[in-house]
Amino acid sequence: MKGKMKAQVFYEPEVMRLEEIDIPQIADDEVLVKVKYCGICGSDISYYYGHSPLGTADGKGPLVLGHEFSGQVVEVGKIPADKGLFKPGDRVICNPVQQCNACDMCAEGKFNLCAHGVVPGVSVNGAFAEYCVMKYTHLYHMPEGMTYKQASIVEPLACAAYGMKKLDVQLGDFVTVFGPGPIGNMMVAMAKARGASKVALVGTRDYPLGIGKECGADYIINIRDKNSPNYTDDIVGKISELTGGKMSERVIVPTSNMEALQKALDVAAGGATIVYFGLPGEGDMIQVPALRSIQSDINIRFAWLAPLVWPTAIKAVAAGIIDTDKIFTHEFSLEDAEKGIIFMKTGQGDKLKGVIAVDSSE
Ligand SMILES: [Zn+2]
Ligand SMILES: [Zn+2]
Repeated sequence: MKGKMKAQVFYEPEVMRLEEIDIPQIADDEVLVKVKYCGICGSDISYYYGHSPLGTADGKGPLVLGHEFSGQVVEVGKIPADKGLFKPGDRVICNPVQQCNACDMCAEGKFNLCAHGVVPGVSVNGAFAEYCVMKYTHLYHMPEGMTYKQASIVEPLACAAYGMKKLDVQLGDFVTVFGPGPIGNMMVAMAKARGASKVALVGTRDYPLGIGKECGADYIINIRDKNSPNYTDDIVGKISELTGGKMSERVIVPTSNMEALQKALDVAAGGATIVYFGLPGEGDMIQVPALRSIQSDINIRFAWLAPLVWPTAIKAVAAGIIDTDKIFTHEFSLEDAEKGIIFMKTGQGDKLKGVIAVDSSE
């Protein structure tokens, strides 16, 4: 498709401009998507402030950010057209982590470890723009009844679902989630759906903890705010009290807070599984008590991205297991994308998840 489109172009830390740029051209294996909604990810905020390098060759802009998106197909490359897979007008969810499908990691389904992937919003232009190019292999048809806004939660939800798959909650387990962000609160809902008897959600602010309660948390625990009715200065003692001394059978840590990464080890029951999910800093280390961990036979796992769980995440939204109305708290226009990013990082007031409504029509 020829023509111009509006796009938010990120140049360097704290410099992003709304510009008119060419609508990208598609190759035979690609599809042009008219972007509808695109979530603001913590990583977009990191890129914007220069806290982490982009996935481009030199780690720098200019680049259009945004990778958590849904949209409508407007143009279909020859290969997917010949196969009859997509047609203009189709409502789609975009999986931005477009692995190469040709390396050894991909051959084993370890798509998250592919070193040759192409990721809109990270290594190539993304979806803080009116149009975005996708590989046809990384588009999913939206289920009947799902809105574009709901569909834009699927990318972070898929990552959360992969972490939950590794957590492997068993019926009746006591589950502790550290970090009531959008991911942590979706993990709470999934833990309940997977049969946890009780879920304890641990955080430092009552507002997101309150959303976690609405998502199904049985206990919310604030470990920082002394004025909170949910405050405790002894998280280990608290989990012991709530479990009758047995401690937590499953512990997941969707936060980069090092204290939480460390405390996860202290609240784990014998035979527990712990999954580390949040992204700490480059040099951060977790101190694992070696003998105690061996003798209590615990499993320590890590989760990165979302291989092979996209259909699961889509079904979780379609089935109402994830209520996106509870997760999204702020919506911004494409024109206000930069303001939105700044607000989600530094703005005063209660907030959980922001999303850019590039085109809010269904
Ligand atoms: Zn993301
Ligand atoms: Zn690969």
